[in-house]
Amino acid sequence: MKIKFKHSNTNFYNDLNQRVQQLISPEILLKSSKLMKVKFFVYFLLFISLYSLLFIDVINSNFLLLTISYCLFGLSGILLAFNASHDAVHNTLFKKRIYNKIAHYLIFNLQGVNATLWTKRHISSHHIFPNVDGCDADIDDNSFIRLSNSHQLRWYHKYQYLYAPFLYCMYTLHWIFIKDFIYLSKKEVANMKNLSYSSLFIIEVISLKILYIIILIIFPSYFSEVAISQSIFAFLIMHFFISIFFVLTLIISHLTTETSFPTADKFGVLPTCFHEHQLSVSLDYHPTSNFANWIFGGFNSHAAHHLFPSLPHTVYTLITPEIQKMANKYAMPYNQLSINKAIQSHFRYLKKLGEYQ
Ligand SMILES: [Zn+2]
Repeated sequence: MKIKFKHSNTNFYNDLNQRVQQLISPEILLKSSKLMKVKFFVYFLLFISLYSLLFIDVINSNFLLLTISYCLFGLSGILLAFNASHDAVHNTLFKKRIYNKIAHYLIFNLQGVNATLWTKRHISSHHIFPNVDGCDADIDDNSFIRLSNSHQLRWYHKYQYLYAPFLYCMYTLHWIFIKDFIYLSKKEVANMKNLSYSSLFIIEVISLKILYIIILIIFPSYFSEVAISQSIFAFLIMHFFISIFFVLTLIISHLTTETSFPTADKFGVLPTCFHEHQLSVSLDYHPTSNFANWIFGGFNSHAAHHLFPSLPHTVYTLITPEIQKMANKYAMPYNQLSINKAIQSHFRYLKKLGEYQ
């Protein structure tokens, strides 16, 4: 059945959009676009510089320093993805689509995750039906962690809020070496049907994974004194570290006790219109803080991102107060917590889903 949103009967989005267009003058848009490029440059430079640390003898002769360098390098990659690659996917980093495509391709694939597969899931699934089970590719139906009411409840899920942090530590390794291949083999993912990939694309995916291992493990040990076993060990610790950072800063923007998980009625109609849906399923944390915007690349202003994905994330701090005002005026939902409270809420959500059918 084709899932649809309820027809909108309010002026909420028209009013909000008008206000946002007034607020984002051509000068502000130009300034924000420049800031986007500065952020891209700063994080890319950091990413390259931290990678070069892995080849310095003083660092790689000491396992602790080597591990710290790997972790910082991994973190800079995540920040680069948050602050530049995600915007590139939405064509807001550069004016020309091809530059956005190249930037996203490089940033994602250099970190082992396939850029093309993620773009498909993010644009054609997640942004259309966030938090709609069966339609949002981000709500994984897996037997270890129950993320939706419609997933089968197993006896051990009552402990999932306790063991989730250990599984979350494996998130990026699982994504790179398992999840991408699962997606390659599936014909249907959430709302996306009849998926197929050419042999050439499958070869490209495998080659990029091999290249990632060469760059991250083989090169540092080949061009320096470090033993390959130490490189592998530091690489694994880096993944545990960045996985926790990645999961806990992203998952809280949708999977909490505050956000909703709408289901369609027997005619396939969701209970609210598209824009109310985006507000009800998103959670903001420190959305007007410039510091948080620099770190989380606007993922922390998630309502703004889902309502205005074609604006660069550098304007989200400006437009979020308008979203809050309009949501209040039209009695629309709007969720906001501090990052600590949001993380606590995510674990409460896991506890709740582990207990009830
Ligand atoms: Zn997005």
